[in-house]
Amino acid sequence: MQGDAYLKCINPQCGLEYSIESTNVQCEKGHMLDVKYKNKPSVSLKEVFYKRRNSEGSIFNESGVWRFRELLNFCQIDTENIEECSKYLVSLDGAEGRQSKPYRMSKAADFINISNDNLWLQPEGYNPSGSFKDNGMATAVTHAKMIGAKKIVCASTGNTSASAGMFAANEGINCDVYIPAGQIAPGKLSQAYQFGAQIVEVDGNFDDALKESLDDAKNYDGYTVNSINPFRIEGQKTIPIRALEYLNWESPDWIIYPGGALGNTSSCGKALMELYEWGWIKKIPRIAVINSEGASTLSDLYNGKFEGEELRWNKGNPNTELISRYYDHLDKEGLKPKTKATAIQIGRPANILKGLRALEFSNGVVTTVSDSEMLDGMSVVGLNGFDCEMASGASVVGIKKLISEDIIKKDDVVIGILTGRQKDAMLPVDYHNNPKNKFAIPPRN
Ligand SMILES: [Zn+2]
Repeated sequence: MQGDAYLKCINPQCGLEYSIESTNVQCEKGHMLDVKYKNKPSVSLKEVFYKRRNSEGSIFNESGVWRFRELLNFCQIDTENIEECSKYLVSLDGAEGRQSKPYRMSKAADFINISNDNLWLQPEGYNPSGSFKDNGMATAVTHAKMIGAKKIVCASTGNTSASAGMFAANEGINCDVYIPAGQIAPGKLSQAYQFGAQIVEVDGNFDDALKESLDDAKNYDGYTVNSINPFRIEGQKTIPIRALEYLNWESPDWIIYPGGALGNTSSCGKALMELYEWGWIKKIPRIAVINSEGASTLSDLYNGKFEGEELRWNKGNPNTELISRYYDHLDKEGLKPKTKATAIQIGRPANILKGLRALEFSNGVVTTVSDSEMLDGMSVVGLNGFDCEMASGASVVGIKKLISEDIIKKDDVVIGILTGRQKDAMLPVDYHNNPKNKFAIPPRN
């Protein structure tokens, strides 16, 4: 296995390669990087993964991320040896991804108007820090440990800081969380405080906070764990991998994600590209990304709503100038992303190019939903006995919208990803206190 994994620029015209020990998040020309593997994992591993469901005392078999370690083996370890694993792999005692799998939710299926047999919803909110971020944080912090980092660094206003703080506390390393000063309600950072992260306030907006966190990481030996880190993407691949394994590697017709920074879209695309190339799946599911109407950068660009051009990966030649002009337009008009679903309130998706690549590979679609629709989606998930945050409601109502438009066909098999657990206590309270809301059950006196 020695020398199997390396980093490679995603731009096919550039293609610069770096050692797996590199902490670069971009090539020297400013393109994003992928973790690549020279060897093709044997399809016979499907049986190994199944057997590991009986963990036999190994936290790395319990973990929904590391159970599939051969498919993200950038540590290049002897993967059958549990002692060896524990020297390298970072885990919250096997809890990351452990409870994540597709579930049936009949009330959601009725609301969507799809057969209950054809709909699966996969909650990622039951991860230890309450969101899908733990999948990718397990791998990013493993890489940080591999290169001897003493401190991890992120810019975040919520789920990322919670996950980074939890892993850092568990590993006994420091964690700095950069936020725009005065713009973040302290409650959104309560988990980061709880896990002992150092909050760093930056004058400016979120983009300024991210830039300063990247500069400080570079200059003061920090290790960046935002989703531009290619190792985050490796762990997040296990979200669709778990879903596919659960369906006996029979691809569904669709996989649906809420769209924010597009790390999930990117990682789903990378997982599908690899599994297809390796012969693990025969059919490529289509990815649908659901933006909020108030933070619709990807939808605007992908669907030709800006300057009339439909932005595409275009085999590695995306029109990046169109993206720059779109961002200039947002600045000039003073347009800021605005939605109550803060997890996807993002105007400049950091992974937009990898996201476009994923959409091209999977013949994907992008659409938008409103805040009130997302709240309905969130609430109907609750009526099935599952907890999810407002952004996750986008998956539910996105499927409903795409079925009503006949883009998703009625007998298609669909998996919707519910990205996180409810962390804003007042959202359901306000929703249910308003009798006009579709699923409201107002208090009685
Ligand atoms: Zn490059």
